[in-house]
Amino acid sequence: MSGTWPLIFFDVLAVLGLTGLCSMAARAWAGTGTSYWLAYAGIGIVALTLVIAIPLRYFLIRQRREADGREAILVHEGERREFAARLSRALEMADTESAAFSVAARAFGELAPTTMIEVLLADSSQAHLVRAVAHEPVGALHGCGVATPKGCPAVRNGHALSFANGSDLDACPHLSDRGDPQCGAVCVPVSIMGSSVGVLHAVHRSTEKFELRETDALEIVAQQLGGRVGLLSAMSQSQIQANTDPLTGLLNRRSLENEVRVLMRRDIPFSLVLADLDHFKRLNDTYGHDTGDRALRLFARTMRRVMRDGDIVARYGGEEFIVVMPEIEAGAALVAFDRVRTELEIALSDGRIPGFTVSAGVVDTTESLSLDELITMADQLLLTAKRNGRNQILHTGMVEQPATTRVPTLTDVNAGARPVVVNDVA
Ligand code: GH3
Ligand code: MG
Ligand code: MG
Repeated sequence: MSGTWPLIFFDVLAVLGLTGLCSMAARAWAGTGTSYWLAYAGIGIVALTLVIAIPLRYFLIRQRREADGREAILVHEGERREFAARLSRALEMADTESAAFSVAARAFGELAPTTMIEVLLADSSQAHLVRAVAHEPVGALHGCGVATPKGCPAVRNGHALSFANGSDLDACPHLSDRGDPQCGAVCVPVSIMGSSVGVLHAVHRSTEKFELRETDALEIVAQQLGGRVGLLSAMSQSQIQANTDPLTGLLNRRSLENEVRVLMRRDIPFSLVLADLDHFKRLNDTYGHDTGDRALRLFARTMRRVMRDGDIVARYGGEEFIVVMPEIEAGAALVAFDRVRTELEIALSDGRIPGFTVSAGVVDTTESLSLDELITMADQLLLTAKRNGRNQILHTGMVEQPATTRVPTLTDVNAGARPVVVNDVA
């Protein structure tokens, strides 16, 4: 309130001064024969109009500009929210990382069709940046040459950086190092699960900074993309944990059954190998459980290396494994799995893990279309292999089976049982 008194004081002075000036001008004018009061009134009205109208005009113009500014901010905010909502809906529909990356590429095309925009993300070692998304219109500038997350100033600072010109003193070194540094750029760090692991980089030929509207939109993309990729990787991580055996990293029994169900639904024929490590209890008892675990992991690695990508390799339980080979019959599957046996011998030859062997039974879908039955049949072949001296693989065609005899299961053999006659008619 105290600040208004000087203003009032000066206003009063101005009015008195103006009155005096008007009076003097009116006197001078009245000297030419005009009535003093008439001259005074005329000059007074003109002076007052000027005094009031000019500042009033400026005041109104300023008010108008402020209102326009507020309206522009509201429009910008509305557009920003609408873009964020559309992007969020699109990313929610992306159920893989690559689908999320394509959404980002489409968003870049919409935001700045003629500008080069890319997303560089750290690889699995976290040490190198690889290009995950690229929007590269014809004739646009090249992407950023930064090689590591730590090499990027925006990632290091943890916030967006905007550069007007690559040749400016304070421009990013990766921008000024380019063949053509006459360009503006914006770099937004991308965070996945709380850590900055990449950068969204946009570069245009103009030597001006990107508009605030564009920078805002790019920040939205960087933030939402990082969030979605983080969520997807957490989801796939827990999915992997649920589907795999923690010791060997192979599929577990439940996911094996799911995979086989898919093959059956699609009418894809397959062979099934049931493999069991020989005398594994003895290895455990002699060298300890840790050595047993290392042996199991080595066997799993050997199988994974030898089998084709499309084969399903699973730990069925304990030291028993199942391999399902689509589109091949038991004879060919036996030959394929025999390579596991020989590769195992080679892998063990360095002596770091005590020697062990594997026995297996092989069946295929010409013998049954039920997974349970196939496993039971393979188990019987496996048992025969064990009885025949172990370290061997058998398929049905290699075994003479009397129709009246049920070959005992592994459990029977472990319990010391002999083959059981099932239709021994009295
Ligand atoms: P066979 O040649 O007849 O198959 O004899 P075996 O000793 O391999 O069979 P048995 O069923 O008697 O023993 C299996 C052993 O496998 C017993 C168990 O301690 C071991 N085993 C099962 N799961 C694991 C595991 O996760 N880690 C380790 N180290 N050993 C395991
Ligand atoms: Mg066993
Ligand atoms: Mg065994």
